[in-house]
Amino acid sequence: MGERIYVDNSATTPVSEKALAAMLPYFREHFGNPSAIYSYGQEAKKALEDSRRVVGNAIGGLNNEMYFTSGGTESDNWAIHSVCALKHKNGNHIISTAIEHNAVLRTLEKMQDQGYEITLLKPDKNGRITTEALENAIQNDTILISIMMANNVIGTVLPIKALCAVAHKHHIIFHTDAVQATAHIPINVRSLSVDLLSLSAHKFHGPKGVGALFSKIPLLPTAYITGGGQEKGRRSGTENVAGIVGMAAAIEEETENLQHNTQHTQILRDKLIESTLKIPGAYLTGDPINRLPGHASFVFEGITRSVYLINMLNEEGICASSGSACAASSTEAPHVLSAIGYDDEISQNALRISLSHYNTENEIDSINEKLPRLIRELRHRKDKTLG
Ligand code: PLP
Repeated sequence: MGERIYVDNSATTPVSEKALAAMLPYFREHFGNPSAIYSYGQEAKKALEDSRRVVGNAIGGLNNEMYFTSGGTESDNWAIHSVCALKHKNGNHIISTAIEHNAVLRTLEKMQDQGYEITLLKPDKNGRITTEALENAIQNDTILISIMMANNVIGTVLPIKALCAVAHKHHIIFHTDAVQATAHIPINVRSLSVDLLSLSAHKFHGPKGVGALFSKIPLLPTAYITGGGQEKGRRSGTENVAGIVGMAAAIEEETENLQHNTQHTQILRDKLIESTLKIPGAYLTGDPINRLPGHASFVFEGITRSVYLINMLNEEGICASSGSACAASSTEAPHVLSAIGYDDEISQNALRISLSHYNTENEIDSINEKLPRLIRELRHRKDKTLG
């Protein structure tokens, strides 16, 4: 196999040179435990607190509003559990959407088992949720609204500022899963006015297994993991110092270059979309305008399950996916495509190509050249099987 083309950046991204260089000293030279009072510990503690300020700054949050976690999944779990723990006396109704990541959906199922009432809003065909739909779902006992900022499968960016305003009009806490959005679109928690926000480092060229939860509300997040009292006594466990330093370096680098990177990825994305939509029976999924700058997602008629297409692309050295890393091996129709109205059959035929600013025009030309042939081959195979 020649050079590989990696276009599954919504699943994960390679760690940037800068983030890696920032992390390395924290494995050996500055390996101290941040809770220790001698110099090794204090060096680690300083790195931790500097990183907290940097990560907060990148989204407009203050350092005392940032909590480090093991990634997006934990941040989402913690946000939801915390609001339930704090507000259960005020009500037991939670509103979210049918297109959330399983980190939110499965957690809500768990809350439902514990007696909470869950309303999942159904988005329109493009994956957008309207303020009217949210307004209509609010009840007297609604304690939390959790709506993602950008969808991982279809790339749609949701109108979080407007949705959050509706929540606040009714004095309801608003959480957003910004795992796919952070460092890909501009985020300012102050102007959005969100109460809680989840992010994850490996989606923006930081390391895996590290993320953060922003909370504007001092009583949130509530204590979650008990032990040595790290993270203001709310999430115990010796901190992942190197990972956190890497996350800070990555978010700083990506947000500083956001405008430039966005221009580059958007041009590549649009070239890819334009070419792919020339294939008969190919459709763009998600919002054509309000979408992540590097995100292109499609369904194809007549190819019986995109897992075959993804394998064929892999044989050509192209690493893409159907939409969710977690569901990559699943044959279940992606819940997101079903939620926006695609039938079960075509929902099996999804392809997601998610770019980063490291992708080049040559790579896109190569995909554009190969994809139509692979689709033709798959359709031919299907016809032969049926015939
Ligand atoms: N939320 C969204 C929207 C995601 O896309 C993902 C990962 O794909 C997660 C949460 C989970 O993040 P992590 O992999 O850091 O646990």
